[in-house]
Amino acid sequence: MVDDFLPEDLRVPSRDEVAGMMMHLRRPLVIDGEVRECPRCGAYRDWIILSIRDEVWLRCRASHETLEHRLDTAWFNRNSGPMDAMHATFEDGLKYLGHHDN
Ligand SMILES: [Zn+2]
Repeated sequence: MVDDFLPEDLRVPSRDEVAGMMMHLRRPLVIDGEVRECPRCGAYRDWIILSIRDEVWLRCRASHETLEHRLDTAWFNRNSGPMDAMHATFEDGLKYLGHHDN
């Protein structure tokens, strides 16, 4: 058994130190034959897709974040292609992908 292997701060990433991956998806996102829209503003393209632990979150251009239960890490890995950059923080990653609030 390899238990208690990871340091405490890796087991519970904070909001700004997300142990996850992100990608930018400009085209509409189709899940089960249906175009996914942001439940808050109706955006249907230009997503940042986040893979955090085993959850996939969608973030629209207006910074609304939605947990998408139908997608998982395996889906993310199939669709993301190779990761080309590492980011120290979530905000750095958003800035890199062109999705920063400022
Ligand atoms: Zn939105």
